[in-house]
Amino acid sequence: VKAAFIRQHGGIEALEVGELPLPTPGPGEVRVKVLYSSLNHLDLWIRGGIPGIHVSFPHILGSDAAGIVDSLGPGTTGFTAGDEVIIHPGLNCGKCPRCLDNWESLCPQYKILGEQVCGTNAEYVCVPAQNLFLKPKKISFQEAAALPLVFTTAWQMLVRRAQIQSGEFVLIHGAGSGVSTAGIQIAKLFQAEIAVTSGSDEKLKRAESLGARHLINYKKQDFGKEVRKLKPGGPDIIFDHVGKDFWEKNIKCIAKGGRLVTCGATSGNQAVTDLNHVFFRQIQIQGSTMGSKLDFPLILSHVEAGSLRPVVDREFPLKDIALAHRRMSEQGQFGKILLSH
Ligand SMILES: [Zn+2]
Repeated sequence: VKAAFIRQHGGIEALEVGELPLPTPGPGEVRVKVLYSSLNHLDLWIRGGIPGIHVSFPHILGSDAAGIVDSLGPGTTGFTAGDEVIIHPGLNCGKCPRCLDNWESLCPQYKILGEQVCGTNAEYVCVPAQNLFLKPKKISFQEAAALPLVFTTAWQMLVRRAQIQSGEFVLIHGAGSGVSTAGIQIAKLFQAEIAVTSGSDEKLKRAESLGARHLINYKKQDFGKEVRKLKPGGPDIIFDHVGKDFWEKNIKCIAKGGRLVTCGATSGNQAVTDLNHVFFRQIQIQGSTMGSKLDFPLILSHVEAGSLRPVVDREFPLKDIALAHRRMSEQGQFGKILLSH
């Protein structure tokens, strides 16, 4: 079957498109014919290699996908061939205290599809049945493939970790990224006042149409000073995945008792933290990764109702995955980059 994969870690040139054996669904698994998958920043990290994460080659990248149920493994129930489904990329044991408490991403066996195990950039993928959700008819396959990882991540960051409240002031960095386009909409759903940063005026305008009220171009303005003009005490919540480049300013501009929630560090992960600010002003620094499948039906119901909407940037055929990776690494996108299979 056709697949995009890597035989070694490296740059965009490490990506190959070719034929790999058809995977066989194991007990409790479902084989899905993938119609669309989508890119995440994680794909670039995995392609390059992450210290401590072992990958066996050839490795298929990709965490998100939507498609059609093709066949079931032994003893698998709950789905039938032909069902239209969305794949949730969080793999967990389902039995440990963390899983039973619905904090699956803290499970000792937690994995992400496409990270430690082969992912969705292929014609067929096998996943545990508990990772499949029926695709609501109102949601297109393209939207369905765009939403799982970023909406799951942004939901956990804002709702579970920062516990966003109506009327709070939220600063969201990197307005054009998939996770930020999700975060803006979730913050709006909770009736927060939203400021966004981006280095592109065009992306800021588009973020405004998603619900951001205040637009800050960090290349032209000092976002720390700007946000303090907009909200004198500082933002209640900062939603970050930029890391190093913004970190010191995040710590200085956030409100007393504010929650700084981070799910990534695209500009670098070795950042300086002035601890005087952390303790005197009682700042909470919250790490977050992925989220719970428990929240996913609720996210889907909001998408169905139109209050959340996956933002699709552009679509590439799977054979052109290198162009898709290039677009993401150059940060040209607004929202999610899709691959059609
Ligand atoms: Zn577990």
